[in-house]
Amino acid sequence: MKVRVDSCTLELKRGDITLEDTEAIVNAANTRLAGGGGVDGAIHRAGGPKIMEECRKIGGCPTGSAVITTGGNLKARYVIHAVGPIYRGGDRGEAELLASAYRKSLEIARERGIKSVAFPSISTGAYGYPVEEASRIALRTVIDFLRENGEPSLVRFVLFTEKDLKTYEEALKEIYSRL
Ligand code: ADP
Repeated sequence: MKVRVDSCTLELKRGDITLEDTEAIVNAANTRLAGGGGVDGAIHRAGGPKIMEECRKIGGCPTGSAVITTGGNLKARYVIHAVGPIYRGGDRGEAELLASAYRKSLEIARERGIKSVAFPSISTGAYGYPVEEASRIALRTVIDFLRENGEPSLVRFVLFTEKDLKTYEEALKEIYSRL
């Protein structure tokens, strides 16, 4: 599924984000930038040790924020490491922190002149964020950012499962039906 947001493109697809050829891919990282399971582990495995070397130099990243490193051996030139919240019931500022993780990633891309960015579904794996709620926050935040800034010109969500893709598609349709 693909929609226009002013002069930009917003795309949803199923896939493995480590194979994406966007200029940057986003990692669902942890505050220690220590690597881990899920998409984080997959990115470090595919991208090689250069990414972790830079993560160690940076040292860490607070929840709701993001940092950038090389893409190492990935097709993507950069990895933006975004730290989403651990879901603890929804009344601990999770929604704002999740939106902030997306926004900061896009701000970094914009500052660097990065034209295309691929996101995974941040926080909806090990961090337990319900994907219906998370998909609405993710899409609204990205759409608002693209409207305000007119860049990056391509944002692609790369969902790992067919079920997650369907959930994101439903959320996007719902947002668009209310515009
Ligand atoms: P978090 O700790 O932020 O929840 P996870 O990596 O556990 O991060 O999960 C985030 C999402 O990334 C989940 O929907 C998971 O299915 C997905 N995922 C795992 N591996 C990949 C991959 N290679 N490409 C894209 N998404 C992936």
